Amino acid sequence: MTFPTSRPADSAFARAHHDVARGLPYTRVGDLFIDGQWRAASSTDLIEVVDPATGESWGAAPVASTADIDAAVGAARAALPGWRALAPSERANRILRLADALEARADALSLTNTLENGSPVAETSRAAGNGAAILRHFAGYADYLERLDVRPFADGSASESVVRLDPVGVCALIAPWNFPINLVLVKLAPALMAGCTVVIKPAPTTPLSIRFIADAASEAGIPDGVINVVTGGAETGDALVRHPDIDKVAFTGSTPVGRRIAATCGGLLRPVTLELGGKSAAIVLPDTDLAAMSSVLLRSCMRNSGQTCYTASRLLAPSERYDEVVEMVAATVSAARVGDPLDPDTVFGPVASEAQKRIVQNYIRSGLDEGARAIVGGDVPPPFPSGSYVSPTVFVDVTADMRIAREEIFGPVLGITRYDGVDEAVELANDTPFGLGGIVFGDDEDAAFRVARRIDTGSIGINFFASNHSAPFGGRHDSGLGVEYGVEGLNAYLTPQSVHRRRR
Ligand code: NAD
Repeated sequence: MTFPTSRPADSAFARAHHDVARGLPYTRVGDLFIDGQWRAASSTDLIEVVDPATGESWGAAPVASTADIDAAVGAARAALPGWRALAPSERANRILRLADALEARADALSLTNTLENGSPVAETSRAAGNGAAILRHFAGYADYLERLDVRPFADGSASESVVRLDPVGVCALIAPWNFPINLVLVKLAPALMAGCTVVIKPAPTTPLSIRFIADAASEAGIPDGVINVVTGGAETGDALVRHPDIDKVAFTGSTPVGRRIAATCGGLLRPVTLELGGKSAAIVLPDTDLAAMSSVLLRSCMRNSGQTCYTASRLLAPSERYDEVVEMVAATVSAARVGDPLDPDTVFGPVASEAQKRIVQNYIRSGLDEGARAIVGGDVPPPFPSGSYVSPTVFVDVTADMRIAREEIFGPVLGITRYDGVDEAVELANDTPFGLGGIVFGDDEDAAFRVARRIDTGSIGINFFASNHSAPFGGRHDSGLGVEYGVEGLNAYLTPQSVHRRRR
């Protein structure tokens, strides 16, 4: 099986990537964003930033030490009284300016993000715009925060309670590498709007694109210390989660790390929001228009080379149309362009790192060993010898007990399982420890809606899947705790106070 490709000869390719990196504002940096300034890190330890398309290191960022984390948390603590005292409408004004300042940085941010994690520019070119939309959405909650919420006592007495919403305090925001801008902003925007101050820790794979947010914040007049950024890996994240002066942790990442953070926060009685892994299912109902489904298949089931938490990597096809579904999926996936993530037409770039490539290849091997059949990809060599490329793969004859059907792969691997009758489809979809997303495909949208209501996940789409900034997004079971987006996502950064008083 061959894919349409867009990658020039290796040497020209590496040179082109090198030239793009040289034109970027941040490559090798030794500083951290603390109290509104880029300050030299106290240690000389560095994380290398490797372009997954070429395997070449093109940047570096510091590993924050305990002293750096203390300074960042201290700055956030010192900035809290001033920021929370601003009227919500004034915080909203600054957040709106931050949205504009971020959008003005869209191009360099996109290229930095693509060279960090290999996400195609078709994906990363939307990062600043989508991030700005998230900021603007949360800036719209000023009225909600300013409203006077007075509740009478039920006994009819002359007493009432005034319910006020206070910011929860200093928040640690910890993000993964797959959407490094969006997954920070969906925490940062409600935190700022609520009146919280923050310390952000991006993933070690993507420590540079976060700098565009910090610089945009300075330009937007967000006061010094309200936003701080420390870079580093698991140790830095752990030290931040445990820091005595952190009031809340918001984490997006893998389920095992989420469990560890939950245990720490449980011990500290520290509020925590966890957005974790998934293994979502797409149910293809028998009346599905397969041509229409083909047009959304890649975005729904393999977005960002399958490195999307909610992606529906289990496709459940009805026996009576199984062959047709398989044929459509094989044709759609094998027509998608694999290649240079800097090419706007590329659908599948490399996966984010060599480590991720090994994980995905091991899953592909396990699928073959357990008897699934690869009708696209499989154990064929990756399309390009250098770089962290994996052949996009479609497995058929996948059964519910196989590892590729049970575990999150986080790569361009889609498995198709046959079902008989809608009850079996629902049972298969729910036969997972996760509960994040999913899709029901079907021509009769009312029938599809009824099936969707039987799926035990935090979100589910009918014939498409997307995040709605005003609707809660979160996982059930092993997919997390709490939600992001919408007023529910804002409430995660607020703590209510009821003031009981005699009615006047
Ligand atoms: P990861 O769990 O390895 O790391 C996530 C972040 O946590 C990184 O910044 C990392 O440095 C930090 N970290 C690691 N160990 C830590 C510890 N002990 N204490 C504190 N911080 C620690 O995840 P990843 O590989 O970067 O991202 C992929 C995972 O993220 C996938 O499982 C994916 O499903 C999940 N994800 C979930 C959502 C969602 O909204 N549910 C969205 C995107 C990604």
